[in-house]
Amino acid sequence: MKKSLRSTRSSQIQTDFWSAVQNGIAEDGGLYIPKDWQNKQLNVETLPDSYLQIAHAVLSCFTDELDPQTLTSFLHQAYDGRFEAEDVVALKPLGSDYLLELYHGPTAAFKDIALSLLPLFLNEAAARQENPAQTLILTATSGDTGKAALEGFKDRSGCELLVFYPDQRVSEIQQRQMLTSEGKNVGVCAVRGDFDDAQSAVKRCFADPQLSAELQAHHIRLSSANSINIGRLVPQIVYYFWAYRKLRRQGVLKNGQHLNFSVPTGNFGDILAGYYAKQMGLPVGKLIVASNANNILTEFFTTGRYDCQRKLVKTTSPSMDILISSNLERLLAHESAPDDGSVSLYMEQLKQNGWYQIEPSLLAKLQRQFACGDCLDDQAAETIHQVYAQTAQILDPHTAVGVHVLRQLRQKGEVQDPCVILATASCYKFSRDVHEALFGHCDLDEWSAMEQLSARTGLPIPTALQGLREKSIRHTDKIEKDAIVDYVRQKVQVMKHD
Ligand SMILES: *Cc1c(COP(=O)(O)O)cnc(C)c1O
Repeated sequence: MKKSLRSTRSSQIQTDFWSAVQNGIAEDGGLYIPKDWQNKQLNVETLPDSYLQIAHAVLSCFTDELDPQTLTSFLHQAYDGRFEAEDVVALKPLGSDYLLELYHGPTAAFKDIALSLLPLFLNEAAARQENPAQTLILTATSGDTGKAALEGFKDRSGCELLVFYPDQRVSEIQQRQMLTSEGKNVGVCAVRGDFDDAQSAVKRCFADPQLSAELQAHHIRLSSANSINIGRLVPQIVYYFWAYRKLRRQGVLKNGQHLNFSVPTGNFGDILAGYYAKQMGLPVGKLIVASNANNILTEFFTTGRYDCQRKLVKTTSPSMDILISSNLERLLAHESAPDDGSVSLYMEQLKQNGWYQIEPSLLAKLQRQFACGDCLDDQAAETIHQVYAQTAQILDPHTAVGVHVLRQLRQKGEVQDPCVILATASCYKFSRDVHEALFGHCDLDEWSAMEQLSARTGLPIPTALQGLREKSIRHTDKIEKDAIVDYVRQKVQVMKHD
């Protein structure tokens, strides 16, 4: 099998796409990245128009030795009848810019796009093993990954899924979506702490020698549905090409003209997919890293210092309440000389000291490609209000961060060409905050706010969120973050008896 990927920390550690999907993380603790881009070039001028056809062209560049018919079949299984948009996603004008609506899938957030495909990739990866094992997928979520994974993996044979979310740190609707999840092979557990606590707890499971021995004895493999898994990132490249292609066809863009993208960012996965699209030949202008009050990335792209010695702030955009943006490591690896040891050093410094500072030459390279800015909760609310007044479109608080930061940069003259803002969630996932932004102080509970919002604006509630309030709660586990390994070990005991 062709080894098309390497670890961010060493080019000696190489693997093929399927093993990377199965293992999640590289054996040296690094993340898998494409070795090069030479055989991954696509000409957007000659691409077909439909989402599935573009997806086929993009994914073929990564899915080593998968026959084209199988890939087509995966795409139909993942997307047919599961997305309520014209063509999986939708593009709407917003003044002279555009909103790319990525939230019309089964859980009303953009994570559905990748997590609809990932289970099929994992199945394929398992089938390629000589000794197919059961897979246990561990996932930390800041709110949206959890439910998208629960929907993607439910009742799939050969795998079990455990989702860990930070207690009281996700929106009520996100929590209800997860806790009412059906499926014999899925579990959900609250972790006392914030997202970074949940994410590092999950990472500890991957590194625990005793757990690892028990898993091996029971012939169970661990994998991850987080965006550290390359199988999560690759499907997200598709909509960058799709949006560009659509604007070309509409005559908005000239041949080769640059298109900017503003991306509400947390774990740096979605925006990295935009960087990958650019490496594959898409004429991308600036990639705008839009942060909420947890603006560690704004500081990083401004000063080159990544410093997470601060408190995580709880915001109205909880899916971006993250201090350790895992996928930034991938960007650093792509932009540094291979094997100069810098990426390992930075990651070691982050672990030991809580911060690192990149070289000025590396920072300059990043600043040529990325712009950045942040947006506080009241600015996001103001943006939701303004955009509704001007265009009758309703932004969710994450998307509002992307719109606000773009406007900030336009005022400063830092962005010229047209821009696509990635709309990452339905406003109904955050009904109370959106209701309050539009109509002032809101005494309603989340569920009444949802109904009111729909009644007052005429925007239908997505099918994914209808009837949620009445569904029964099926998952009630809650643990301390240090208890996670024991918790997973208990689950493994149950799995082996099934
Ligand atoms: C996950 C998420 C983000 C952040 O995406 P990353 O890939 O983690 O940067 C933004 N908005 C919403 C609604 C999300 O669910």
